[in-house]
Amino acid sequence: MPAFTDARQVPKASVLEADLAIIGGGPAGISLAMALAGLPIRILLLESGGMEFEAPTQALYEGSQSGVPYLALDGSRLRYLGGATNHWGGWTRPLDPSDFEQRDWVAHSGWPITRKDLDPYLRRAQKLIEAGPWIFDNKRAWTRAMGAPLALGDGGVYTSFFQFSQWKGNAQHLPTHFGERYADDLKKQANLEVMLHANVTRLGLARDAASLDVLDVATLSGNHFKVKPRYTVVATGGMETPRLLLASNDVMTAGVGNQNDLVGRYFADHAIPRDCATLVVFEGALAPYYVAARDAAGAHFRATFSPTEAFKAEHQVLGSLSTVEYPVKLDALGLAAVSAMAKATNMDSADMKAFSLGTGLELSPDPDRRLTLTQERDALGMPRLNLHMTIADSDFTSYRETMRELGRQLILAKSGMIRLNHRSRADWLAAMDWANHHMGTARMHEDPKQGVVDTDSRVHGIGNLYVAGSSVFPTYGSSNPTLNLVAMTLRLADHVKGLFA
Ligand SMILES: Cc1cc2nc3c(=O)[nH]c(=O)nc-3n(C[C@H](O)[C@H](O)[C@H](O)COP(=O)(O)OP(=O)(O)OC[C@H]3O[C@@H](n4cnc5c(N)ncnc54)[C@H](O)[C@@H]3O)c2cc1C
Repeated sequence: MPAFTDARQVPKASVLEADLAIIGGGPAGISLAMALAGLPIRILLLESGGMEFEAPTQALYEGSQSGVPYLALDGSRLRYLGGATNHWGGWTRPLDPSDFEQRDWVAHSGWPITRKDLDPYLRRAQKLIEAGPWIFDNKRAWTRAMGAPLALGDGGVYTSFFQFSQWKGNAQHLPTHFGERYADDLKKQANLEVMLHANVTRLGLARDAASLDVLDVATLSGNHFKVKPRYTVVATGGMETPRLLLASNDVMTAGVGNQNDLVGRYFADHAIPRDCATLVVFEGALAPYYVAARDAAGAHFRATFSPTEAFKAEHQVLGSLSTVEYPVKLDALGLAAVSAMAKATNMDSADMKAFSLGTGLELSPDPDRRLTLTQERDALGMPRLNLHMTIADSDFTSYRETMRELGRQLILAKSGMIRLNHRSRADWLAAMDWANHHMGTARMHEDPKQGVVDTDSRVHGIGNLYVAGSSVFPTYGSSNPTLNLVAMTLRLADHVKGLFA
């Protein structure tokens, strides 16, 4: 079987056959293909782009937006082999066990699987991501090399740790770009054909809408052909997955899997308000791993502040990960507050240092934060997306509660204090950035009325169609998604193996 082929060379109007079609060659699609190496089936991975950025292909991602300002839809992802990992940051952390739980105080929360179900796959995903040995919050490995974390009194916030994806441990700490990194492995895989420049434009259902029959494939050079797969996995990312499902509306008029009007709803990203608090450290140096990523124990790592599982539950706050960003100079009011607090706690503030804190915030699920199709069409005739973005006031107040707790613990330990910087919704929004983590738009739930895919990631009601990627996350946590979505994909790979057993 030829390893890498080009859809522009496929004879027009051909009908290609495959046991498994994987649509999309980002980390989800690539991890799935590699996990199925050795299976005696024919796998066809259809990737829209080539090996490098091409502007006309990238333009297929353009879309519009409404509501709270967000990033340009074609700016927050990349459309070629490797997908968005071609420019990702490599920040890696597993979701917390509580991220999977149904929380009474968070509407629409909870996964139908637990963190335990994902644990065996997380370790394997960590290897593909190349984020070093599994250490994370087992902080002895970091602190032995570089000093103790900031002293915090007993309470609901702790120092947590990220690890970073690193392409074979290169000196620049470049994160793993899945396309480039795994191209040779994919080429060697005997049961796999990776077809580049192949845009799937329609998921063609059988007349009874109970199975997927055919895929329409188009190229920007004007070629058109079909693929008839026995099983299909859509792995086109958190925005393009709902687009493809919704645009395939010839048999199910609302779109594939959209019988309950859920596809494209519950879109989420991690909001990153900048400079949301100022951290003051009274004396002694802040360990270097707070301010920038460092090397220890065979990994590249960085510290953040997180609410504990108990604090989240007791105070009904969402997840967040706060990073120390850069040193700041305090104004006169700030200096006066520090000196008053130092006096009250018997601390010497002569060597105090102040830093800006940024954060990655979990958003609560909102069905109105949503991707829909518009009348605009792209160069292949597919309807473009509109993203309607929202943030609830409670998402902000939840984070303030966590920061207040951090401040209380710093004072308790006599190690420092916190000043909260944004007081109004307008302040928060003015400082808002986004993480480019597209989640939630084909959420997993046992009940088809509440989810697009079932616990096996199979689209409800359609026997041979699956979704891979963070669009299946029903709630989001505050950890970056890629490690977790690759783990979910490896779990799906085990299910796919069962289909061919
Ligand atoms: C700037 C930036 C920084 C980030 N930093 C981090 C980070 O530090 N940590 C982290 O965990 N995550 C990070 N992410 C997110 C991370 O990149 C994504 O979670 C991950 O790439 C999603 O993987 P995926 O395979 O589901 O989708 P994608 O990576 O989006 O891949 C989808 C693939 O499908 C292809 N495709 C799309 N439509 C079609 C179609 N119709 N037919 C055929 N192929 C198609 C695309 O070309 C692409 O290759 C970042 C993202 C960005 C943009």
